Amino acid sequence: MPDSQLSENYQLVETMLQQPLANGDVVCNLCLWRCRLRHGQRGFCQAHVNRNGRLYNLSYGIISAIEIESIRNKPVYHYRPESQVMSIGSYGCNFRCKGCHNLEISWGVDALDKLARGQSTDAWVRPEQIVETALKHGVDGIAFTYSEPAVWLEYVLDVSKLAHAAGLFTVYVSNSFVTDEALEVMAPHIDVLCSDIKSLSAEFYRDVCPVSTVEQVLGSIKKAADLGIHVETRTNVIPTKNDNLDELRSIAEWIRDNLGRDSPWHVTKFFPAYKLSHLPATDNAIIEQAAVAGRELGLEHVYAHTDISCDCATENRPVSAWLELDPAALNEVNKCSATCCGDEGILVKKFEREAGILAK
Ligand code: SF4
Ligand code: SF4
Repeated sequence: MPDSQLSENYQLVETMLQQPLANGDVVCNLCLWRCRLRHGQRGFCQAHVNRNGRLYNLSYGIISAIEIESIRNKPVYHYRPESQVMSIGSYGCNFRCKGCHNLEISWGVDALDKLARGQSTDAWVRPEQIVETALKHGVDGIAFTYSEPAVWLEYVLDVSKLAHAAGLFTVYVSNSFVTDEALEVMAPHIDVLCSDIKSLSAEFYRDVCPVSTVEQVLGSIKKAADLGIHVETRTNVIPTKNDNLDELRSIAEWIRDNLGRDSPWHVTKFFPAYKLSHLPATDNAIIEQAAVAGRELGLEHVYAHTDISCDCATENRPVSAWLELDPAALNEVNKCSATCCGDEGILVKKFEREAGILAK
């Protein structure tokens, strides 16, 4: 995004990697949905909207959660392992996992609806304020997590550029349903990718997110590694869904053959949530067995986590507590301060499969 778009107040920011079509539709190439949107429509993630033939990101600068913690919590063990990071997130995800712990933030449908209506009072924070806060708290890096950074790339990049200039590293925690174009744009500015490999089963991904395929996700992870980003992968083992030891072995083999024997693999524990609340928490034994299998197959750095799951933000302090800004000012109603198109076009329909807005 050009710096000239940066504002002192909340406003919609032009989506990166958008492709306008002659009829006014626009294709978003940030993630592999490649949503094709008509005027007034929002993409699957709900964070990008077509207004009069241009796409805009609704969530630029909108912060849902902040935490300061060890990089090992992400989990990342082989990049500056003694360092502290400031984790930040917004709203919006391009998946709809049935076991997501973090719906209010990761999906953020209510928050994004409020932004679209000009009624949101969520914290709006300029990129330089994020970096200043990170420096004040003495951390070594900034991690983009909780929501999916792919659907917030405009802000992620602006913060990352300032972070690098200030000597901080950057971490991107993702489901890796990301286009090659987006990876190429972010590669110079992102140091670490912590990515899910949820499964190697096509059926699992059909269940989790109908348009995604294993091949797309694996291709995205490989591309990130090829671009020079330090990659660590994570598999959250869910009882009856992806806890077959043969399948877990296949994941380890894929990592060995595509990312290298020294590429770290984290095996984490599922805790019941959302539509998978009826399932038990993962038995520690299968987590340990997967780790043993990964080592037997030649992976040099396999970690069994019996205490962490996805990188959720459920009990964080209020954003205002970290930023030490006036909460009233921080949480003013976010109405777009640009005057280019007035109110018309801000209020948008939700994603509807039946509306045929997907580029296929
Ligand atoms: S889901 Fe969001 S980020 Fe992905 S292509 Fe659609 S609008 Fe863009
Ligand atoms: S589990 Fe992760 S990828 Fe899946 S919906 Fe939640 S935040 Fe998105």
